[in-house]
Amino acid sequence: MQNQLEGIVIRARPYGETNKIVTLFTREAGKITCMAKGAKKPASRLAAITQPFTHGTFSIYKGKGMGTIQHGDPLESLRHIREDIMATAHASYITELIDRLTEQDEPQPVVYEMLYQALHAIDEGYDPEAITLFVEWKMLPYAGLTPTLHQCANCGATEGEFAFSFQELGFLCHRCFDIDRYIIRLSPALVKVIRTLFFVPIERVGSLKLKKESKTLLKQIVRTIYEEQAGIRLKSRGFLEQIERTPEFFPKKENPPEDE
Ligand SMILES: [Zn+2]
Repeated sequence: MQNQLEGIVIRARPYGETNKIVTLFTREAGKITCMAKGAKKPASRLAAITQPFTHGTFSIYKGKGMGTIQHGDPLESLRHIREDIMATAHASYITELIDRLTEQDEPQPVVYEMLYQALHAIDEGYDPEAITLFVEWKMLPYAGLTPTLHQCANCGATEGEFAFSFQELGFLCHRCFDIDRYIIRLSPALVKVIRTLFFVPIERVGSLKLKKESKTLLKQIVRTIYEEQAGIRLKSRGFLEQIERTPEFFPKKENPPEDE
């Protein structure tokens, strides 16, 4: 059976002398893994189309077992992601996270749309750190973790001062601060940012600009949740953190102005 699918390459690894095993996240069929015969050879017509982050249409032959990519056409190049090391590191982190949190052969149009929007936003030069935060917060339910962010996780209040509680997986209002000794106090602006990251579709947010300290805190919170409550630590996180710690060692673009 031959299928024509729109998808994004989220992983490609060598297989044997000349082949690649490619994981595609497709609009129609969700995550699928395929063989790309000969794709390791630079002259192969499959070489370019099976590069990570490529968005294209793929003709896939599916008999028994793993499908085979017969042919592919790029829909656009997403060249900036490949050329800018910071963009590459964030895109790798996003694709690894989505890979870890999704099952094979299960259509996930919402996740596909998020991946598509996130990679395009990074390619267009939006702050890759903010885009990654979006994906991290939005993917929490796919790890079986749905935080309570629209109200106090303990009493249901929607008014007041709020803090983040790992124990309650969500916000606590000031009336309930004493039920968790390890709350993280949040400014009203940060409460709003967390809600935006979790509830607002990525394409509706445009150029959300966040302060460096805000991003650091939001990242620590979400990564602690993944690590301690779902046991998920990504391989690409080390590389990402190394670039963030010592950006002077890596080629740099101009930074957008920061505020909230
Ligand atoms: Zn409360």
